[in-house]
Amino acid sequence: MSELAYPYEAPASQALFDRAAAVTPGGVNSPVRAFRAVGGTPRFMVSGTGPYLTDADGREYVDLVCSWGPMILGHSHPEVIAAVQDAVSRGTSFGTPGEGEVALAEEMTARVAPLEQVRLVSSGTEATMSAIRLARGFTQRTKVIKFAGCYHGHVDSLLAAAGSGVATFALPDTPGVTGAQAGDTIVLPYNDLDAVREAFRAHPGEIACVITEASPGNMGVVPPADGFNQGLKDICSENGALYVSDEVMTGFRTSRAGWFGVDGVVPDLMTFGKVMGGGFPAAAFGGRADVMAHLAPAGPVYQAGTLSGNPVATAAGLAQLRLLDDAAYAKVDAVSKEIQGLVTGALAKEGVAHRLQTASNMFSVFFTDRSVRNYEDAKTQESFRFTAFFHSLLADGVYLPPSSFESWFVSTAHDERAVQRIADALPAAARAAAEATA
Ligand code: PLP
Repeated sequence: MSELAYPYEAPASQALFDRAAAVTPGGVNSPVRAFRAVGGTPRFMVSGTGPYLTDADGREYVDLVCSWGPMILGHSHPEVIAAVQDAVSRGTSFGTPGEGEVALAEEMTARVAPLEQVRLVSSGTEATMSAIRLARGFTQRTKVIKFAGCYHGHVDSLLAAAGSGVATFALPDTPGVTGAQAGDTIVLPYNDLDAVREAFRAHPGEIACVITEASPGNMGVVPPADGFNQGLKDICSENGALYVSDEVMTGFRTSRAGWFGVDGVVPDLMTFGKVMGGGFPAAAFGGRADVMAHLAPAGPVYQAGTLSGNPVATAAGLAQLRLLDDAAYAKVDAVSKEIQGLVTGALAKEGVAHRLQTASNMFSVFFTDRSVRNYEDAKTQESFRFTAFFHSLLADGVYLPPSSFESWFVSTAHDERAVQRIADALPAAARAAAEATA
């Protein structure tokens, strides 16, 4: 047994974490779950209902992570669970086409006008990886522009760090990604159209696509400046490149048509995941029919998946999307605003410098008094204050993302009682943030 970092908090979770560490690297199946950014014992959850999660020690938390976005109706929504049970009773995977995947694709294309065709996959990573392959196959070009601080899953060529300056060729961000894989990736500062123009000037006829989070949530919430996405689209069009909007996080969350429903900029290709899977592994990429026609078996660009369009996952996703009407979005937006107000109120009362940034109902807090427009800005925040804030809330039964570089998520299930529990926990957390030292 390892030493308990926070012995008063979670002995059952700690025991599970110790067992997990023996059989799984770092004890988790996705790194941020390990609490490395904030320290302490990751909570092993055993159940979720509405806005609440219950951990292995029997403690209940108001969940402000919502499985990193998917659970926009809260946990165990009865109609989603019923759809899953119905699907599962008929079998779990056929490896053939089925009606559920057609219905899900129809629901998605009906909501998002630029989405003329979609291909279903099983994770956001697969979606962005495939979209980039298709963009390269369609344009017959090799280079890809991405932005520092934007995360598109663990696609080799997109795990590249920014160098300084304009149009810097990326260095691999992790061992295992070769220079060749990262070498065709150009990493630029977010919200900087001049840098994008300069990169196109420096590499005429070489850039296949620009991929961007539709509104970034993976460096904390850093929305696009007015005209940024339209500028990207225009520069791509002028240069024969594709504009790829990654809506894995924002899709069907920031409005019924995702971020496209907010800014109306028409991408050539889009990627989706999270909400569209209803808590199951379902994701997608899609867009212009003439581009999608290049995908196998219609065209030459290969892409496939044993579990793609899985009947249980598509049933969950379809049930969730069908419940997400205008009233549902109004509810999520309203509760998000209410919580945002409580957070800024509590921090202001303690005199804590902070910046709450929003993208529709997604939001996060930066512990800085400066506006955060890109990853460099985000890194200047006083993350040690977030750590104190996080642990105080956790101890009082509010579960935040365990990093200051993540969006917070709410759901239609966050009701008055849940909001009151957050309100009750915030004063102590704000005090802890105020008193924290680096
Ligand atoms: N794209 C964005 C914008 C994401 O936020 C994520 C995951 O958080 C991904 C892609 C990767 O999705 P997945 O974790 O399902 O592979």
